[in-house]
Amino acid sequence: MMIMMQPGASQQHISRIVARAESLRLPVQLSRKDGRTTIAVVLQGNDYLFEEFAGMDGVAEARPISNPYKLTSREFQPNDSVVSFNGTSVGGGKLVVIAGPCSVESREQIIETAQAVKEAGADALRGGAYKPRTSPYSFQGLGEEGLEYMAEARELTGLPIVTEVMAPETMPIVSKYADVLQIGARNMQNYALLHAAGESHKPVLLKRGMSSTIKEWLMAAEYILSHGNRRVMLCERGIRTFETSTRNTTDINAVPVLKAQTHLPVIVDPSHSTGHWEYVAAIARAGVAAGADGLIVEVHTHPEVALSDGPQSLKPEKFATMVRQVRALGKALAVG
Ligand code: PEP
Ligand code: MN
Repeated sequence: MMIMMQPGASQQHISRIVARAESLRLPVQLSRKDGRTTIAVVLQGNDYLFEEFAGMDGVAEARPISNPYKLTSREFQPNDSVVSFNGTSVGGGKLVVIAGPCSVESREQIIETAQAVKEAGADALRGGAYKPRTSPYSFQGLGEEGLEYMAEARELTGLPIVTEVMAPETMPIVSKYADVLQIGARNMQNYALLHAAGESHKPVLLKRGMSSTIKEWLMAAEYILSHGNRRVMLCERGIRTFETSTRNTTDINAVPVLKAQTHLPVIVDPSHSTGHWEYVAAIARAGVAAGADGLIVEVHTHPEVALSDGPQSLKPEKFATMVRQVRALGKALAVG
Protein backbone atom coordinates (compact mmCIF):
# COMPACT_ATOMS: atom_id res chain seq x y z
CA MET A 1 0.00 0.00 0.00
CA MET A 2 1.04 3.61 -0.55
CA ILE A 3 0.83 5.77 2.57
CA MET A 4 1.00 9.53 1.89
CA MET A 5 1.91 11.42 5.05
CA GLN A 6 0.48 14.81 5.99
CA PRO A 7 2.75 17.74 4.99
CA GLY A 8 3.65 18.39 8.60
CA ALA A 9 3.92 14.75 9.72
CA SER A 10 6.60 14.37 12.38
CA GLN A 11 9.60 12.10 12.19
CA GLN A 12 8.06 10.17 15.05
CA HIS A 13 4.89 9.48 13.06
CA ILE A 14 6.97 8.27 10.12
CA SER A 15 9.23 6.12 12.30
CA ARG A 16 6.24 4.50 14.00
CA ILE A 17 4.81 3.34 10.68
CA VAL A 18 8.17 2.05 9.47
CA ALA A 19 8.76 0.25 12.77
CA ARG A 20 5.33 -1.38 12.62
CA ALA A 21 5.97 -2.61 9.06
CA GLU A 22 9.38 -3.90 10.06
CA SER A 23 7.99 -5.70 13.11
CA LEU A 24 5.62 -7.51 10.72
CA ARG A 25 8.60 -8.23 8.39
CA LEU A 26 6.90 -6.37 5.55
CA PRO A 27 9.04 -4.66 2.88
CA VAL A 28 8.95 -0.90 3.34
CA GLN A 29 10.34 2.00 1.30
CA LEU A 30 10.39 5.70 2.13
CA SER A 31 10.45 8.45 -0.47
CA ARG A 32 10.25 12.24 -0.20
CA LYS A 33 9.00 14.65 -2.83
CA ASP A 34 8.20 18.34 -2.43
CA GLY A 35 8.49 18.07 1.33
CA ARG A 36 5.94 15.21 1.52
CA THR A 37 6.84 11.73 2.69
CA THR A 38 5.37 8.62 1.11
CA ILE A 39 5.79 5.22 2.72
CA ALA A 40 5.30 2.17 0.52
CA VAL A 41 4.53 -1.04 2.38
CA VAL A 42 3.97 -4.40 0.69
CA LEU A 43 1.26 -6.19 2.68
CA GLN A 44 2.16 -9.58 1.17
CA GLY A 45 -1.45 -10.70 1.11
CA ASN A 46 -2.26 -9.48 4.65
CA ASP A 47 -4.83 -7.03 3.35
CA TYR A 48 -6.51 -6.68 6.75
CA LEU A 49 -3.48 -4.57 7.78
CA PHE A 50 -4.52 -1.82 5.34
CA GLU A 51 -6.95 -0.22 7.81
CA GLU A 52 -4.44 -0.33 10.64
CA PHE A 53 -1.75 1.51 8.65
CA ALA A 54 -4.25 3.94 7.10
CA GLY A 55 -5.43 4.90 10.58
CA MET A 56 -2.02 5.66 12.07
CA ASP A 57 -1.11 9.18 13.20
CA GLY A 58 0.22 11.53 10.55
CA VAL A 59 -1.32 9.66 7.59
CA ALA A 60 -3.08 11.91 5.05
CA GLU A 61 -4.13 9.29 2.54
CA ALA A 62 -3.62 5.61 1.75
CA ARG A 63 -4.25 3.46 -1.32
CA PRO A 64 -3.23 0.03 -2.56
CA ILE A 65 -0.18 -0.27 -4.86
CA SER A 66 -1.82 -0.38 -8.28
CA ASN A 67 0.63 -2.75 -10.00
CA PRO A 68 0.53 -6.53 -9.51
CA TYR A 69 4.31 -6.38 -9.16
CA LYS A 70 4.97 -4.30 -6.10
CA LEU A 71 8.61 -4.26 -4.93
CA THR A 72 9.62 -4.13 -8.58
CA SER A 73 7.45 -1.12 -9.42
CA ARG A 74 8.49 2.52 -9.68
CA GLU A 75 5.49 3.26 -7.52
CA PHE A 76 7.13 1.40 -4.62
CA GLN A 77 10.57 2.88 -5.30
CA PRO A 78 10.66 6.06 -7.42
CA ASN A 79 14.47 6.29 -7.63
CA ASP A 80 16.56 4.08 -9.90
CA SER A 81 18.17 1.07 -8.25
CA VAL A 82 21.92 0.83 -8.60
CA VAL A 83 23.20 -2.75 -8.57
CA SER A 84 26.86 -2.96 -7.56
CA PHE A 85 29.29 -5.88 -7.61
CA ASN A 86 33.08 -5.93 -7.34
CA GLY A 87 33.50 -2.23 -8.08
CA THR A 88 31.07 -2.17 -11.04
CA SER A 89 27.72 -0.35 -10.71
CA VAL A 90 24.78 -0.84 -13.04
CA GLY A 91 22.10 1.84 -13.12
CA GLY A 92 24.26 4.64 -11.78
CA GLY A 93 24.53 6.58 -15.03
CA LYS A 94 27.64 4.97 -16.53
CA LEU A 95 26.99 2.49 -19.32
CA VAL A 96 28.13 -0.99 -18.30
CA VAL A 97 29.37 -3.44 -20.93
CA ILE A 98 29.45 -7.16 -20.10
CA ALA A 99 31.19 -9.31 -22.70
CA GLY A 100 32.59 -12.75 -23.28
CA PRO A 101 31.85 -16.04 -24.95
CA CYS A 102 28.51 -17.79 -24.89
CA SER A 103 30.19 -20.80 -23.24
CA VAL A 104 33.42 -21.33 -21.37
CA GLU A 105 35.12 -23.88 -23.63
CA SER A 106 38.62 -24.16 -22.18
CA ARG A 107 40.99 -22.39 -19.80
CA GLU A 108 42.94 -20.83 -22.69
CA GLN A 109 39.79 -19.67 -24.48
CA ILE A 110 38.25 -17.86 -21.52
CA ILE A 111 41.52 -16.26 -20.43
CA GLU A 112 42.34 -15.07 -23.94
CA THR A 113 38.81 -13.71 -24.39
CA ALA A 114 38.78 -12.07 -20.96
CA GLN A 115 42.01 -10.24 -21.75
CA ALA A 116 40.69 -9.18 -25.14
CA VAL A 117 37.38 -7.79 -23.85
CA LYS A 118 39.16 -6.06 -20.97
CA GLU A 119 41.50 -4.43 -23.47
CA ALA A 120 38.50 -3.33 -25.54
CA GLY A 121 36.91 -1.64 -22.50
CA ALA A 122 34.46 -4.19 -21.06
CA ASP A 123 33.40 -3.82 -17.42
CA ALA A 124 32.55 -7.47 -16.73
CA LEU A 125 33.09 -10.92 -18.22
CA ARG A 126 30.32 -13.29 -19.27
CA GLY A 127 30.62 -17.02 -19.92
CA GLY A 128 28.34 -19.98 -19.37
CA ALA A 129 29.50 -23.12 -17.57
CA TYR A 130 26.00 -24.64 -17.31
CA LYS A 131 24.36 -24.20 -20.70
CA PRO A 132 20.66 -24.48 -21.52
CA ARG A 133 20.89 -26.06 -25.01
CA THR A 134 17.94 -26.85 -27.22
CA SER A 135 19.48 -30.19 -28.16
CA PRO A 136 20.65 -32.69 -25.54
CA TYR A 137 23.43 -33.63 -28.01
CA SER A 138 24.91 -30.11 -28.07
CA PHE A 139 27.78 -29.01 -25.80
CA GLN A 140 26.29 -28.64 -22.32
CA GLY A 141 29.09 -26.61 -20.71
CA LEU A 142 32.07 -27.53 -18.55
CA GLY A 143 30.22 -27.26 -15.24
CA GLU A 144 32.37 -26.49 -12.20
CA GLU A 145 35.58 -26.76 -14.21
CA GLY A 146 34.27 -23.86 -16.34
CA LEU A 147 33.52 -21.83 -13.23
CA GLU A 148 37.09 -22.35 -12.02
CA TYR A 149 38.44 -21.01 -15.32
CA MET A 150 36.10 -18.02 -15.05
CA ALA A 151 37.42 -17.32 -11.56
CA GLU A 152 40.97 -17.52 -12.88
CA ALA A 153 40.09 -15.07 -15.67
CA ARG A 154 38.65 -12.71 -13.03
CA GLU A 155 41.84 -13.02 -11.04
CA LEU A 156 43.96 -12.10 -14.06
CA THR A 157 41.86 -9.24 -15.43
CA GLY A 158 39.96 -7.88 -12.41
CA LEU A 159 36.69 -8.26 -14.39
CA PRO A 160 33.70 -9.44 -12.33
CA ILE A 161 32.02 -12.55 -13.75
CA VAL A 162 28.47 -13.15 -14.93
CA THR A 163 27.43 -16.76 -15.40
CA GLU A 164 24.21 -18.72 -15.73
CA VAL A 165 22.60 -20.81 -13.04
CA MET A 166 20.13 -23.34 -14.43
CA ALA A 167 18.74 -25.16 -11.40
CA PRO A 168 18.22 -24.58 -7.68
CA GLU A 169 20.51 -27.57 -6.96
CA THR A 170 23.49 -25.85 -8.57
CA MET A 171 22.81 -22.47 -6.91
CA PRO A 172 25.43 -23.07 -4.15
CA ILE A 173 28.18 -24.07 -6.55
CA VAL A 174 27.49 -21.28 -9.08
CA SER A 175 27.19 -18.71 -6.25
CA LYS A 176 30.59 -19.77 -4.94
CA TYR A 177 32.22 -18.39 -8.11
CA ALA A 178 29.82 -15.90 -9.73
CA ASP A 179 29.66 -12.17 -9.10
CA VAL A 180 26.33 -12.06 -10.95
CA LEU A 181 23.92 -14.97 -11.42
CA GLN A 182 22.35 -15.08 -14.85
CA ILE A 183 18.88 -16.60 -15.15
CA GLY A 184 18.31 -17.46 -18.79
CA ALA A 185 15.31 -16.86 -21.02
CA ARG A 186 14.24 -20.51 -20.78
CA ASN A 187 14.15 -20.30 -17.00
CA MET A 188 12.46 -16.94 -16.55
CA GLN A 189 9.39 -18.62 -15.09
CA ASN A 190 11.19 -21.39 -13.21
CA TYR A 191 9.74 -20.38 -9.88
CA ALA A 192 11.87 -22.73 -7.79
CA LEU A 193 14.97 -21.14 -9.35
CA LEU A 194 13.61 -17.59 -8.87
CA HIS A 195 12.91 -18.45 -5.22
CA ALA A 196 16.46 -19.74 -4.76
CA ALA A 197 17.87 -16.60 -6.45
CA GLY A 198 15.79 -14.50 -4.06
CA GLU A 199 17.45 -16.19 -1.12
CA SER A 200 20.93 -15.86 -2.56
CA HIS A 201 23.08 -12.85 -1.78
CA LYS A 202 24.31 -12.35 -5.33
CA PRO A 203 23.00 -9.87 -7.90
CA VAL A 204 20.82 -11.48 -10.56
CA LEU A 205 20.62 -10.79 -14.29
CA LEU A 206 17.11 -11.92 -15.24
CA LYS A 207 16.70 -12.47 -18.96
CA ARG A 208 13.32 -12.09 -20.60
CA GLY A 209 11.56 -15.30 -21.57
CA MET A 210 11.40 -15.52 -25.36
CA SER A 211 7.58 -15.53 -25.30
CA SER A 212 6.99 -13.51 -22.15
CA THR A 213 5.20 -10.22 -21.81
CA ILE A 214 6.86 -7.40 -19.91
CA LYS A 215 4.31 -7.89 -17.15
CA GLU A 216 5.15 -11.60 -16.78
CA TRP A 217 8.82 -10.66 -16.71
CA LEU A 218 8.29 -8.11 -13.96
CA MET A 219 6.27 -10.67 -11.99
CA ALA A 220 9.23 -13.06 -12.32
CA ALA A 221 11.51 -10.32 -10.95
CA GLU A 222 9.02 -9.84 -8.13
CA TYR A 223 9.62 -13.46 -7.05
CA ILE A 224 13.31 -12.67 -6.57
CA LEU A 225 12.70 -9.38 -4.75
CA SER A 226 9.96 -10.81 -2.57
CA HIS A 227 12.31 -13.53 -1.36
CA GLY A 228 14.72 -10.90 -0.12
CA ASN A 229 17.08 -10.08 -2.99
CA ARG A 230 16.65 -6.59 -4.39
CA ARG A 231 19.76 -6.67 -6.58
CA VAL A 232 18.09 -7.60 -9.86
CA MET A 233 18.87 -6.41 -13.40
CA LEU A 234 16.54 -7.08 -16.33
CA CYS A 235 17.91 -8.21 -19.68
CA GLU A 236 16.01 -7.79 -22.96
CA ARG A 237 17.32 -10.54 -25.27
CA GLY A 238 14.75 -10.52 -28.03
CA ILE A 239 11.39 -12.21 -28.36
CA ARG A 240 9.86 -14.73 -30.75
CA THR A 241 7.99 -13.18 -33.66
CA PHE A 242 7.05 -14.30 -37.17
CA GLU A 243 10.31 -12.81 -38.49
CA THR A 244 12.94 -15.34 -39.47
CA SER A 245 15.73 -13.06 -40.79
CA THR A 246 17.02 -12.72 -37.25
CA ARG A 247 17.09 -15.27 -34.43
CA ASN A 248 14.75 -13.14 -32.32
CA THR A 249 13.23 -9.68 -32.57
CA THR A 250 14.67 -7.06 -30.25
CA ASP A 251 11.82 -5.50 -28.35
CA ILE A 252 13.42 -2.08 -28.17
CA ASN A 253 10.13 -0.74 -26.82
CA ALA A 254 10.75 -2.77 -23.69
CA VAL A 255 13.56 -0.42 -22.66
CA PRO A 256 11.49 2.75 -22.15
CA VAL A 257 8.52 0.70 -20.91
CA LEU A 258 10.70 -0.88 -18.21
CA LYS A 259 12.24 2.49 -17.35
CA ALA A 260 8.71 3.80 -16.72
CA GLN A 261 7.44 0.75 -14.85
CA THR A 262 10.38 -0.29 -12.70
CA HIS A 263 13.40 1.10 -10.86
CA LEU A 264 15.52 -1.93 -11.79
CA PRO A 265 18.44 -1.46 -14.23
CA VAL A 266 17.91 -2.56 -17.83
CA ILE A 267 20.48 -4.39 -19.95
CA VAL A 268 20.18 -5.15 -23.68
CA ASP A 269 21.62 -8.32 -25.23
CA PRO A 270 22.10 -7.57 -28.95
CA SER A 271 23.68 -11.00 -29.55
CA HIS A 272 20.73 -13.30 -28.76
CA SER A 273 18.38 -10.57 -30.02
CA THR A 274 19.75 -10.81 -33.54
CA GLY A 275 21.63 -14.11 -33.81
CA HIS A 276 24.02 -12.59 -36.39
CA TRP A 277 27.25 -10.79 -35.52
CA GLU A 278 26.70 -8.40 -38.45
CA TYR A 279 23.71 -6.82 -36.70
CA VAL A 280 25.04 -6.79 -33.15
CA ALA A 281 26.67 -3.33 -33.11
CA ALA A 282 23.58 -1.65 -34.61
CA ILE A 283 21.30 -3.16 -31.99
CA ALA A 284 23.78 -2.38 -29.22
CA ARG A 285 23.64 1.27 -30.30
CA ALA A 286 19.84 1.13 -30.48
CA GLY A 287 19.68 -0.26 -26.94
CA VAL A 288 21.85 2.53 -25.59
CA ALA A 289 19.89 5.15 -27.52
CA ALA A 290 16.67 3.77 -26.03
CA GLY A 291 18.04 4.22 -22.50
CA ALA A 292 19.59 0.90 -21.48
CA ASP A 293 21.94 0.94 -18.48
CA GLY A 294 24.16 -1.69 -20.02
CA LEU A 295 24.82 -4.30 -22.68
CA ILE A 296 25.73 -7.99 -22.60
CA VAL A 297 27.52 -9.08 -25.75
CA GLU A 298 28.96 -12.38 -26.96
CA VAL A 299 32.61 -12.21 -28.02
CA HIS A 300 34.74 -15.08 -29.30
CA THR A 301 38.33 -15.04 -30.53
CA HIS A 302 37.52 -17.78 -33.10
CA PRO A 303 33.76 -17.71 -33.69
CA GLU A 304 33.98 -20.23 -36.55
CA VAL A 305 34.93 -22.97 -34.09
CA ALA A 306 32.79 -21.81 -31.12
CA LEU A 307 30.93 -24.61 -29.34
CA SER A 308 27.84 -22.42 -29.04
CA ASP A 309 26.51 -19.22 -30.63
CA GLY A 310 29.49 -18.65 -32.94
CA PRO A 311 27.38 -16.94 -35.68
CA GLN A 312 26.34 -14.17 -33.29
CA SER A 313 29.73 -13.70 -31.61
CA LEU A 314 31.84 -10.66 -32.36
CA LYS A 315 35.58 -10.95 -32.81
CA PRO A 316 37.48 -8.77 -30.33
CA GLU A 317 38.37 -6.07 -32.91
CA LYS A 318 34.72 -5.64 -33.93
CA PHE A 319 33.74 -5.62 -30.28
CA ALA A 320 36.29 -2.87 -29.56
CA THR A 321 34.74 -0.71 -32.30
CA MET A 322 31.28 -1.33 -30.88
CA VAL A 323 32.46 -0.29 -27.40
CA ARG A 324 33.90 2.97 -28.77
CA GLN A 325 30.59 3.69 -30.50
CA VAL A 326 28.33 2.95 -27.53
CA ARG A 327 30.55 4.90 -25.12
CA ALA A 328 30.46 7.92 -27.47
CA LEU A 329 26.70 7.55 -27.77
CA GLY A 330 26.30 7.29 -24.00
CA LYS A 331 28.27 10.53 -23.58
CA ALA A 332 26.26 12.31 -26.28
CA LEU A 333 23.00 11.29 -24.63
CA ALA A 334 24.16 12.56 -21.25
CA VAL A 335 24.29 16.07 -22.73
CA GLY A 336 21.07 17.91 -21.93
C1 PEP B 1 23.17 -16.97 -23.09
O1 PEP B 1 23.29 -15.88 -22.52
O2 PEP B 1 24.12 -17.58 -23.63
C2 PEP B 1 21.81 -17.54 -23.24
C3 PEP B 1 21.61 -18.85 -23.28
O3 PEP B 1 20.87 -16.58 -23.35
P1 PEP B 1 19.25 -16.69 -23.35
O4 PEP B 1 18.88 -17.32 -22.05
O5 PEP B 1 18.83 -15.25 -23.46
O6 PEP B 1 18.86 -17.50 -24.54
MN1 MN C 1 24.59 -17.67 -26.02
